Amino acid sequence: MKSIDSWHEEEFRSQMITQVVEALGESADPATVARILAACTHAVEGFCTERLYACAAGCPHCCVLNVAVLLPEAMTIALWLGANLSGEELAGLQKRLAAHRSWARWMDDDERILKQMFCPLLDTYGGCSIHPVRPFACRAITSLDSQSCREAFFPAVTDEDRLVPADLFRKAVFDAAFTALASGLRQVGLDDRSIELGTGVLAFLEHPEFVERYLAGERLPRAIWL
Ligand code: SF4
Repeated sequence: MKSIDSWHEEEFRSQMITQVVEALGESADPATVARILAACTHAVEGFCTERLYACAAGCPHCCVLNVAVLLPEAMTIALWLGANLSGEELAGLQKRLAAHRSWARWMDDDERILKQMFCPLLDTYGGCSIHPVRPFACRAITSLDSQSCREAFFPAVTDEDRLVPADLFRKAVFDAAFTALASGLRQVGLDDRSIELGTGVLAFLEHPEFVERYLAGERLPRAIWL
């Protein structure tokens, strides 16, 4: 088992970039992208096994924050949703994502908290509906105290600092995986930009042709960021 003692950021990043470049340089298809995301996650979790945290299904307080994803993350989530939801469920989700995009895409975290603009991928039981393919940014955030989260994300205007004790090591390892993935994408000629989670997922759901275009090395239209 790996641990914080065996963590060397540069070595980790370099191994991950090599893995991404070898896999995607050979075949850039949706299955390979999903596999490489899972492999990156597995590599991070290898360093974080047995690190305790308070997060659990039904405790959705932080799912109100902005989440940035890389385009292959958004693509993989959209494809996973297409494979796992019925046509009716998918149509309903697209409507929620579009409404969220209109209302929340320019809000900062404070405004989102105040208006309780929760992630449209949160289910009605307070769980993540895309848990197996959730973004690195969501996996990176783990609280050590759920009561602190409840208080920190309560919709109130205050000058007080509302702090949540968190596992910063886990965050550092996931952040390294995120930047290593971006670097690997760049090296194989794929678009390495990030995008707001709901906006990116909706773009791939509304334009299924983006999958092929993205994997062919095309830069997606700037309009989806606007
Ligand atoms: S993707 Fe899942 S974990 Fe991330 S903010 Fe949305 S509901 Fe929460």
